[in-house]
Amino acid sequence: MPPAQLIEVLQHTFGFSAFRANQEAVCRAAVEGSDVLLVMPTGAGKSLCYQLPAIARGGTALVISPLIALMEDQSAKLNALGLKAARIHSGLDRETSRLACREYLNGQLHFLFIAPERLRVPGFPEMLAKRRLSLIAIDEAHCISQWGHDFRPDYRLLGKYLPALRPAPVMALTATATPVVQKDILTQLGLDHPVRFIHGFRRHNLAIEVVEVSRPKRALLSLNLLKPQERRPAIIYAPTRKESVWLAQELSANFSTAPYHAGLEPEHRGRVQREFLAGKLEVVVATIAFGMGIDKPDIRTVIHTALPSSLEGYYQEIGRAGRDGKPSRTILMHSYADRRTHDFFYERDYPPVDELDLIFNKLEARPRHRTELAEELKDKLYGEIFDTALDKLMTHGGAFVDFDGNVARGDKIWRQSYISQANQRMAQLDRVLRYAESYQCRMAQLVRHFGDDDDGRRACGQCDVCSPERAIAQKFRPLSSREREMMFAIIDELQTGPKSTGKLHQEVCQCNGFSRDRFEELLGAMSGAGLLDLEEASFEKDGRSITYRKAVLTSEGAELRGSDTVTVFVRDTGQEPVRLAAPKERKRKGPELEAPLSPEAAALEERLRAWRREEAGKLGRPAFCIFSDRTLRAIAVERPRTEEDLRAIHGMGSAKIAKFGEAVRAICSEAMTQTQG
Ligand code: ADP
Ligand code: MG
Ligand code: ZN
Repeated sequence: MPPAQLIEVLQHTFGFSAFRANQEAVCRAAVEGSDVLLVMPTGAGKSLCYQLPAIARGGTALVISPLIALMEDQSAKLNALGLKAARIHSGLDRETSRLACREYLNGQLHFLFIAPERLRVPGFPEMLAKRRLSLIAIDEAHCISQWGHDFRPDYRLLGKYLPALRPAPVMALTATATPVVQKDILTQLGLDHPVRFIHGFRRHNLAIEVVEVSRPKRALLSLNLLKPQERRPAIIYAPTRKESVWLAQELSANFSTAPYHAGLEPEHRGRVQREFLAGKLEVVVATIAFGMGIDKPDIRTVIHTALPSSLEGYYQEIGRAGRDGKPSRTILMHSYADRRTHDFFYERDYPPVDELDLIFNKLEARPRHRTELAEELKDKLYGEIFDTALDKLMTHGGAFVDFDGNVARGDKIWRQSYISQANQRMAQLDRVLRYAESYQCRMAQLVRHFGDDDDGRRACGQCDVCSPERAIAQKFRPLSSREREMMFAIIDELQTGPKSTGKLHQEVCQCNGFSRDRFEELLGAMSGAGLLDLEEASFEKDGRSITYRKAVLTSEGAELRGSDTVTVFVRDTGQEPVRLAAPKERKRKGPELEAPLSPEAAALEERLRAWRREEAGKLGRPAFCIFSDRTLRAIAVERPRTEEDLRAIHGMGSAKIAKFGEAVRAICSEAMTQTQG
């Protein structure tokens, strides 16, 4: 179809005057029958990219969507345009679904929306295959990947059903796919030489800020941030339902505010959404459940009162600000405590492999009911641990569970798949943490994260790193004369080449009584000003990879002279540190890791580590499946003597104690005798 005709469909059928960036190219590829992977941010206008080609190609397009609300919204919009769209999902009665099928078979539909699990209904895929589809659109396609942030097991089945629905071109659409997820989508769906469009992650009107602030202060900071009228409407993302309710309560004395989370009645949630859309509510304090598919253009501020669990989710959420293109702000609050929370959830959601094994080993080809299994394992897997572990087994193919809860043995391959997912999850957490602690342009980091490296080279000019003087959640001040002096000393030292930040501090600052904390702030400020880069590096020692950071001068940094007028800003913490702290280990490690170890504890930790390595080797599993580093350190510090002591240590479940308790206690008591003797 020539371009002139595409634009005609755009104007006449959809009522838009012009294509947005990239839409036309995407539509053209799909009209020509190519498979397409489309990764564009929320609000970029992805729906049109499958809707227009569907109309242009004629016939019925099948749209697979994970959420009832999305299906309802989209089909209503299409019907309002005079197109015929039907949907089939669990929220509708049988008659409506049956009617939709009839209309489909009669060729009366332009669009048929379904949830992926519908394909499991016997006879349904066959019914679909009776006609040739114009196109198959898979919306929110990241749900197919377990590396994505919103994995849905039912999406995984799609690949199996697609071949029967061909030759229609398949378009996978998502806003949140990192390169790993993109690859996974393509493999799982078996897309055929797809054309890829990955664009538009830079948002020009968002001023992103990240601020380190302790938990108790976050509510007040949120309130102050939202006080100026022009910063509302706003969404605040809170980490738990409880906090969303509490914070909404706190704020409602100042502006009309409501909580929103998955535990509220659907009807209630619907009302909150409607009132927020209509401007009757100014602030919504939500868990992540809020905002998917919501199209409110004038949100001025998005606040996160805790560290999000992935950059993808975070980007999605801040992306709800400023859809109208007007300047908007996003503020992320975090502190070390957030890391601990994430660790806690990680350990809860990813039980050790041996706990999964306990279940797997009990499974047989003949299905058994889950309550029977749970009962047999009740001394080893308490309460929810059983459910979590079984759930993981099922997701990774180690168990089959039918609708009635009967469990049969699956495939051994679950192990590798599970371990790599657990590692991937950990990597995601690390990624968010690095983002929060880094001193690089926030927007550039996000753009790179989504795989657009070219665009990711440009700084945004308005985040807290690019433009500290305009930040609102924290204060920055120009360097003091002493800090300036130190800055030039650092530049001098780096002229000879990159250096680890630890060494740099020792050699340049420590003798001058400049603490590690201030030094880190200064380095960050210099990095933010583009004078140096802070890079992660690592070396191998005793078979372990040890990471550190090194500082490298940029050309701007190398050319800077004392007489140049360069303004560098540091965070204004309101107080100059009085006490000169000793150099500290890198922060983000949780409380027990932060304190320096006594020589005895360090020696014990080494010994435990060696034991763990050996044990992991014997069992053929990664070390973290035995104990996490954190648990290991806690053991080294606490030196448990009794089972009671062991139980008090984080990460020591009953299964662990049963398996390793004896060995751990032996190592500890041996160490004790040695130090005493
Ligand atoms: P996405 O799925 O990428 O999040 P949508 O497809 O829901 O985004 O589109 C977001 C909004 O942009 C919708 O309100 C849609 O009507 C609008 N839109 C899409 N394409 C155009 C266009 N070419 N011109 C004007 N508005 C558009
Ligand atoms: Mg969409
Ligand atoms: Zn920036």
